[in-house]
Order: sequence, then C-alpha cells, then structure tokens
Amino acid sequence: MAAPIENIVIAGAGQAGGRAAEALRARGFQGAITVLGEEAHPPYERPQLSKAMLHSPDASVTYIKQARDWSDVLNVRLETGAAVIDGDADRRTVTTADGRCFIFDRLLIATGTRPRKLAALEGSGIEIQYLRNVEDALRFRRSVQHRSRIVIVGGGVIGLEAACAAARNGCRVTVIENETRLLARAFPPLVSDLVAAKHRSHGVAFVFGATVTGATLAGVQLSNGETIEADLVLVGIGVEPVPTVAERLGLPSQGGIAVDACGRTEASDVFCAGDAALQWSRCHGRAIRVETWANAQNQAISVATNMIGETKAYNDPPWFWTDQYDLNIQVAGDMLDSDHIVRGDERSGKFSVIAMRGSDVVGALSVNVAKEMAMLRRVIAANARPSRADLESPAYDLRAALK
Ligand code: NDP
Repeated sequence: MAAPIENIVIAGAGQAGGRAAEALRARGFQGAITVLGEEAHPPYERPQLSKAMLHSPDASVTYIKQARDWSDVLNVRLETGAAVIDGDADRRTVTTADGRCFIFDRLLIATGTRPRKLAALEGSGIEIQYLRNVEDALRFRRSVQHRSRIVIVGGGVIGLEAACAAARNGCRVTVIENETRLLARAFPPLVSDLVAAKHRSHGVAFVFGATVTGATLAGVQLSNGETIEADLVLVGIGVEPVPTVAERLGLPSQGGIAVDACGRTEASDVFCAGDAALQWSRCHGRAIRVETWANAQNQAISVATNMIGETKAYNDPPWFWTDQYDLNIQVAGDMLDSDHIVRGDERSGKFSVIAMRGSDVVGALSVNVAKEMAMLRRVIAANARPSRADLESPAYDLRAALK
C-alpha cells in the first residue's frame, strides 16, 4: 500500500504555487501544506504589473488571497521571504536560504522564471530596470510619471506594454529590438506592423535589428553605432528558469524542468508547474516552457490534483493576451512555421489570424475580437479540423467545427 501523504511542500509562492495550494485543499487534501516563497508578498497576479499598475497611480496589487486567509481559511503555512536554495531527493527535504529544512512526501517546484539580464549594461552607471515583480512595477511607475527619456530593450510583451504606459505618461520612448519586427516569435508580420504603427502614433520610436552594447550616464550605445540619450533603460528580453532546488535534486535543466502531462518530473514524488515546467505542446510539436498567466494557474491546479493520487493530464493550448493602447491581442497555440488565414477585415482593426499546419489548426491570434478567440481556443483544444475554405469565410460559425 502506498505511504500516506502527510506533508506537501510547494517551492515558489507565485501564481502557480498559490493556485496549487488552493487546489489541494479544494480536492480534499487534509495533510500539511507549506508554501515557501522568495518574495515578501503572498501569491499575487502578475499580468497587472505591466498593465493597470503602470497606467493608474492608484492601482494596487491583486493578491490571490489575503495573507491571513492562507492560514485562517486554508490552513496553509505560507512562508514569505523564504527562497528555497537546496534540496535532497533521498532525504526528501528542501532548505531555505535562512537554513531552515522542510520535509516533504510530495514536492511541487513552482519557482518560475526571472528576467534575463543584459550584461552589456552592468556597471555602466545608467539606471537599469526590469519588470517582473511588484517592486519593479512600482519603481517603473514612478519613473514614467517623471516624463523620463526611456530606452526599452526588447520589443516583446513586457517591453511593449511598458512602452505603452511610458508613452501615455509623456515619456520619450525608444524600443530596441533584436529582430526585424516586433514579437516575431508570437505574431505574424501583419500584426507586428499594426502594433508598431500604433506605438508610433503615440510617439514611440523603434530601432530594429540592433541591441545595446554599452551605456554611459547620458545614454546607450547600440550595435549599429547609434547612441540614444536616456535617463533609464528598461530591459525586457525574456525570462529564464530560476536555477533552483531542481538541480540539487538531480533534475538537470533542459531549458526548463521536464515534466509529463501530469506534471511529474524524473525525480520520484517531485512535480513541477508554471513557467519553469518544460511540457509537451501538441501545437508546437515539441516540449516548451509556457510562460503565461493561464498556464501558471491551470496547469498548477491540474498538477496539484495529480500530486494526491489522481491522474489528470493537462493539455490546454498555450494562451496569453496583451493590452496596448486600444488593442487587445490574444494568442493561442503556435503561430510560427504555419500557413495563415485572416478572418475579418484587417483594416477594420478587428480580425483574427488562424495558423494551420496541414489540416490542423495549431494557433490563432485575435485583434480586438475576444469572443472569436474564445471559440478559436476551443477549436484548437478539441483538435477540430474545419476546412480552410470554411475558416476563410467570415460567415462561417466556428461552433460548427466543434460539433
Ligand atoms: P519576450 O520573449 O516576449 O520578448 C523579448 C524580446 O526581446 C524578443 O523579441 C527578443 O528577441 C528581444 N531580445 C532578446 N534579447 C535582446 C537584446 N539583447 N536586445 C534587443 N532585443 C532583444 O519576453 P518579455 O521580456 O517581453 O516577456 C517576459 C515574460 O513576460 C514572459 O516570458 C512571461 O513570463 C511574461 N508575459 C507577459 C505577458 C504580458 O505582459 N502581456 C503575457 C505573457 C507572458 P528574440 O526573439 O530574438 O530573442
């Protein structure tokens, strides 16, 4: 008979860690749950950090639960300011930076990711900011209120949402992007161009095909020889898994921690959820890390259920959204290396793009048509196969593909 599960430890108190703890109680787990988080905050939602919190001086942090409810309502021991730095798979323990040791019967690694650093700027003296946590968002909000000259490195979701907030506050903004267009890994060219035009109409300048090679107190030097005056540089060049406990437990990083569809790692009774998990994606045809709010929540809930003995595969297609000015853009699945079908009139500013590989719908992007995206997500998740001719017809009701 399997040994009873008495102690579940969750390393990481972000969206994934918090939602997993909630789910364990919701599924009736009555043993001890300990959540260990590096940040000083109880679990909170991150999407607002690059959206509402930058736009409104009054916007505050949205916590998943009030701090006291973790103990009083859920009977969860939440330790903030407690980074997990070590682990022992044989003794089934993890250790925090302050030397405390926690025994587990099941461990969930939900330590997430951290911003990639731009080494070329280190030690240059110019103010460098990243945007990942509450303190980062509050700092950047103060900066944009001072109408600064801001260079943003990286034309991805973080860089562009930050650019939007800064431009709206009257800052002079220049975005430096490696690639020849914005969000090249997630957007088709026509949407990259639309987004660039929208930013330009708000005064944002772009430099493509370049990166920052150095800086002085007065500004940054680019790989194309240009120099741009700046008071501060915001770096949004992607994220990387926090090198954690996983390595100490003998789980080699493969650009993430490999898990099966139930969130199990290669180490017995050790699971992983959220940004750090390297999981199979049918849409991509390979294992990927899914760095989204929806994955941090829903995969974590699914994995928590598996930790206490159920078998529930998680196969939701990746999905994220970005809000920039009056654009709400959502992306599901994979838009790369595929044929694209445009539904609706792109000149109207409301349309979607569907990505097909053979007869499979592998991805979709919507611009200001959130309702259509809700259907497209279901089409992708169901592996439905509407014909190209049907998809091209604006009159075609996507619900028909699900019958
Ligand atoms: P992204 O990967 O979205 O974008 C980074 C961009 O910076 C890429 O276009 C990348 O190009 C470019 N880049 C990389 N290195 C350099 C360089 N040295 N100089 C100039 N450009 C460079 O990452 P973000 O930092 O924007 O976002 C990070 C995280 O935010 C996500 O991974 C996720 O965790 C979270 N997120 C936020 C959302 C939102 O705000 N709406 C939505 C979903 C997730 P290349 O592709 O060539 O590397």
